[in-house]
Order: sequence, then C-alpha cells, then structure tokens
Amino acid sequence: MDKEEIENLRKKLLEQVDKLPEEQASSLKEQIKNASPKQLESFVKQSDKGNECFFCQLVSGKIDTVKIYEDNDILAVLDIYPANPGHLLILPKKHFQFIYEIPDSLLNKLFLFVKTIEPIMIKITKAQGISIYIAQGQAAGQKVSHFSINLVPRFQDDGAGFEWQKKKTEKKDLEKIGKELREAAEREVKDKIEKKQKEQKKKESSEAEKISKHIKPRIP
Ligand SMILES: [Zn+2]
Repeated sequence: MDKEEIENLRKKLLEQVDKLPEEQASSLKEQIKNASPKQLESFVKQSDKGNECFFCQLVSGKIDTVKIYEDNDILAVLDIYPANPGHLLILPKKHFQFIYEIPDSLLNKLFLFVKTIEPIMIKITKAQGISIYIAQGQAAGQKVSHFSINLVPRFQDDGAGFEWQKKKTEKKDLEKIGKELREAAEREVKDKIEKKQKEQKKKESSEAEKISKHIKPRIP
C-alpha cells in the first residue's frame, strides 16, 4: 500500500468507528490514529469478519456467477438482476468502496476493460447504446459497498434509464457552488493531476530509454 492508500484506510476505519457508542469509539479511535499499516490491515480484517461483502464473496467464488472475464486484479460478471440482457458488473477484486480509494493503475485497468469490452458488447447484444453507471454511497443507490462499474446495453425506450427530475435553479446559485468547486479544483486537483502526469511521463521515458539501450547494440 502506498501512503495515500494507508491514509484512506485510516480515514475509512475512523468513519466506521464513529458509528459505535461514544465510550467504545474514543479508545478505538486512538488505536486507529496510531496504528501502523500492518495493524490497520488487521483492523480491516477483523471488522470484515462475519459480514463479508457480497462482491468479495463473488470474487472468492463463494457465490456462483456467470463470469465473463477474470485476471489477477479485476472480475467481470453478469448481473443476476439485469437491467437488460448482458448487463455487466466490473469489479476490482480487492475491496474498495469509493473511486478515490482505488490505486491509479487498478483504476486504469478497470476502465481499459470498459473501453475494450464496450464495442464487443454492442456487437454481441446488438445494443443501440451503452450506459456506464457507478453508484457511490448508499444515497446514490450503491447497494453493495464494493466499487463496481455497471455496463448496461441500451435500447430505445427500454425503461432502463437513469432519468432524474430536473430542478429549477438560478444563475446566482449556479455561480455560488460553481465558485466553490472551481476554487477547490484549482487548489486541490490541478497540482495533483499535473504531478501524476509528470510521474507517468518520467516512467514512460525511462522505459523507452531502457528499450532503446537494449535495441541499439543490435543495430548493425
Ligand atoms: Zn467487497
């Protein structure tokens, strides 16, 4: 786990502890705040015991599914209550609830899978479109607290849509929340993304260097 993953894990555990009665929570909180990465992992194992998540049970094979794709990191299965035939659930094998908890390389792989399977899905199901749906949090309809991407083949008027009631809003309200989000994005997102892109480029160029070093001696 990298530093970011460890801190996310710590944050998540603290949130879980918050739901406990006060006297239990305060001593546990201290322990979590001071825990080493190893201790954090064993905390997670303890808290997951007895109420293992449904998708983790799919991953470990405890629940029977129709598998479409599997490798070391990801699993794609058919939803047993499909919105339309071919409705696919794409999961990271490791348990994460929110997108921000998932390491970049794994997130990349999940979406690379989506990108690759989409045209195949259209061809096989003869769908007229595809909905890609991710629910984050109970209020958003996330029924299992394990990250999943829903890929739903779509047809005209199939009733499988995610329509919402459009709310009336005023320009000044848009501007108010817009300002807050824009400033936070400027402050907290821009640097992070630029840093990650730089790291990625560095990695790519050092890999390219390695390859060219390897090739040069062979060119006559
Ligand atoms: Zn899980």
